[in-house]
Amino acid sequence: MEWEGFSDWGRHVADWAEAYHRDIRDRPVRAQTAPGDIAAQIAPHPPEQGEGMEAIFRDFERIVMPGMTHWQHPRFFAYFTSNASPASVLAEYIVSTIAAQCMLWQTSPAATEMEGVMIDWLAQALGLPAGTSGVIQDSASSATLSAVLTMRERATGWRGNREGLNAQGRLRIYCSDEVHSSIDRACWVAGIGQDNLVKLPTTGAPHYGMDTHALRRAIDADLAAGHIPAGIIAITGGTGIGACDDLNAVADVAEAHDLYTHLDAAWAGSAMICPDLREPFWDGAGRYDSIVFNPHKWLGVQFDCAAQFLRDPRAQLNTLKIEPEYLKTSQTVINYSEWTIPLGRRFRALKLWFVMRAYGLEGLRARIRNHVIWAQELCEVVRAMDGFEIVTGPILSLLSFRCPGDDAMQQRLVDAINDDGRIYLTQGMHEGRRMIRLQVGQFETTREDVMMAADVIAEVWSTLK
Ligand SMILES: *Cc1c(COP(=O)(O)O)cnc(C)c1O
Repeated sequence: MEWEGFSDWGRHVADWAEAYHRDIRDRPVRAQTAPGDIAAQIAPHPPEQGEGMEAIFRDFERIVMPGMTHWQHPRFFAYFTSNASPASVLAEYIVSTIAAQCMLWQTSPAATEMEGVMIDWLAQALGLPAGTSGVIQDSASSATLSAVLTMRERATGWRGNREGLNAQGRLRIYCSDEVHSSIDRACWVAGIGQDNLVKLPTTGAPHYGMDTHALRRAIDADLAAGHIPAGIIAITGGTGIGACDDLNAVADVAEAHDLYTHLDAAWAGSAMICPDLREPFWDGAGRYDSIVFNPHKWLGVQFDCAAQFLRDPRAQLNTLKIEPEYLKTSQTVINYSEWTIPLGRRFRALKLWFVMRAYGLEGLRARIRNHVIWAQELCEVVRAMDGFEIVTGPILSLLSFRCPGDDAMQQRLVDAINDDGRIYLTQGMHEGRRMIRLQVGQFETTREDVMMAADVIAEVWSTLK
C-alpha cells in the first residue's frame, strides 16, 4: 500500500462508512459472538509478505465486523454513549493523515492555538466564568489523576514529587460514594491509597448528592487525628445512577478548609450546554479548581476528547511541568504537554471545531434536550408496566428500573434483551439491589428508537416470566 492510489481506498472506506451508518439498525447492537470466536479466525503468525488491500478489507468485513458492538447504533442505551458524529469522524481522518505530534507549541502551533480557543468556546458554552483555562486530555481518568496529583502536591507544599511520599503525612481526599472508579484509581496511583479516599454517604433521592454535614465531620475528625485534608472531588452525573452533588454546598466546605476541588462531570457536562438543564445541577461549578467533561460521550465528538477546565492552571503546572533540555523552546508560549502526564499529544481540538461549527450549539442542545425528554417519556411507560419499578431517575437522561423478581431475574432479563439484539442495556447496583440501567444519548437516536426500548423490554420479559 502506497500513498499513490490511496484515494481509491479512501473512497471505498467512505462509501462503506456511509452504508454502515445507513443500515446500522439492521445489526444487533451488542456483538453476538462467544469468547475466542474472533481470535480463532485471525492468522496465528504475522505474514512475511505484504498483501493487497483487497484481501485485507475482505477479511476485515468477514472476521472483524461480526465481533463489533455497535456504539453508534441509535438503540445503544448501555453505559454512556461514545458518539462519533460524521463531522468529527472527518476531522479525525484529517488529523490521522497529518499525524502531527502536538506536544509543544512549535511542534504544531495551530494545534495548540486551536486547543486554547476550543477550551474557551466550551467554557462559554457551559457558562463557566470568563478566564477559565484548560487543556484537552485523552480521558476523564487522566484529567482526574492530574487533579489528584495536584491536590497531593499542593497539600505537601510541593514536596511529594521531590521527596516522595514517605514523610508527607497521611493525605485525605473526600468524595461521595457515587463517584466513578477512576477516582479510586487516581488515588491508588497518586500514592494516596484507597484507605485515604473518604467516601461520604449521600442524602438520597432525588439527586443523591454528598452529605456535606458528614463531609464537615470527616474533615474535622481527620484534622483532629493529625491527617492532612488535600482535596474534594464532586460529581455532576455519576456513572451508576447520575448522582449530582450540591456544588455550592461542597465548595463552601472546601473554601472553609482551603482545599483544592475537582468536579467530575464526564457524562453530564455535555448537557450543561443547555441553560435550561443546568438547574439545579450546575450552580457553583465556576467555583471548582478543576472540572472534567468528556465531549466524547454525549456531545458527538469522536473518542478521545476529555476537556479539563482549570480556574488557575498554575497549580497543575507546578505539579506536572518538567522541562528537560531537549524540550526547551525559545518562545514564551503555551506547551500543553506541561499540563498533562503524557508528553505526546494528538491534535484533538480539530474535531471539536468541526463539531461545534457543523451542528452549532443550538443543534447540539436540541439533540440533548430530546434525549432528556424521551428518557422521561420512556420512564413513564416502564413505570406503568405490570410489576416494574423505577429505581432511580431519570436524572437528565439516565434511569434505572427493576422487573418483578429477585436480583438474578434482573440479570436474566438484561442478558435476554442483549441476546435479542434490538437494544443494548447494562445492569447496575443501587442500595444493594441489582437494577437495570438505561440512558438515552446516541447522536442519531429518534423518539421511535427510544420508545421501541419499552416494547423490547416488555416482549422479552413476557418470554421469561
Ligand atoms: C465515563 C466516566 C468517567 C471515565 O471517563 P474516561 O474518559 O473513560 O476516563 C469518569 N467519570 C464519570 C462520571 C464517567 O461517566
